[in-house]
Amino acid sequence: MAEKVPEYKIFAIKYATRDARRSDHFIGGDPHDGPMPMDYFTWAVVGPDRVFLVDTGFSEAVGTRRGRQFLRCPIDSLKLVDIDPDAVTDCVITHLHYDHVGNFSKLRHARFHLQEREMAFATGRYVRYGYFAHGFEEDDVVGMVRLNFKRRLEMYDGDMELAPGFSLHFAPGHTAGLQVARVHTQRGYVVLASDASHYYENIQKNRPFIAVVSIADTLDSFRKVERLADSPRHIIPGHDPLVMKRYPATSASLKDVVARLDADPVG
Ligand SMILES: [Zn+2]
Repeated sequence: MAEKVPEYKIFAIKYATRDARRSDHFIGGDPHDGPMPMDYFTWAVVGPDRVFLVDTGFSEAVGTRRGRQFLRCPIDSLKLVDIDPDAVTDCVITHLHYDHVGNFSKLRHARFHLQEREMAFATGRYVRYGYFAHGFEEDDVVGMVRLNFKRRLEMYDGDMELAPGFSLHFAPGHTAGLQVARVHTQRGYVVLASDASHYYENIQKNRPFIAVVSIADTLDSFRKVERLADSPRHIIPGHDPLVMKRYPATSASLKDVVARLDADPVG
């Protein structure tokens, strides 16, 4: 008889936010411009015997320099869900933008999991152009190169199952080597889309986010994310404040701080 696929809990930890407008987010602007704030998250995926962290957020110094409202250190905040940062053995980096890979040095014992094409782009010829360089922090990219020399970086060329019920999937477009995580939970397969879709609206209305390497790849990745998820309600966008409204907090005191994504959404 086939082994039962493990079920994971997923915690979304909100660590920063910023005010923004709809016209900041969509290619082609928006005819109905208005406020559209952006939240910043890291995700902890907790299985019966394995814990995975997905992305590491940015530091207060980098966030402040970039005009973001820093709320709490994403790595220190792991303690809110009973995870000791020193005990994290595996960390997925969905892509190398500053808001997803900062703080990696605070995970002293982790191996990191990245797509090789993301590393190639972030260390390649297009970074000389401000449009592409803007999303990267030089120190983060160099830091990941150093981790590779320390044999703490695993790089993949495409989809990869890291554990039963937890797999990574190549979904480029926003960046050249973005990957999403597919997680088996009590409600089925949830996809942490990260910046394959910053907001629900990107994927639902086929409107790519303003920063892209390839619009065509972004649209193809929307479809791939949809295929990987059990339903549209199983897709978690990377920056949408609606995530904190739709999913239950882990406790009353952690409302708008930590939400359970393996629980059914409301609305
Ligand atoms: Zn992002």
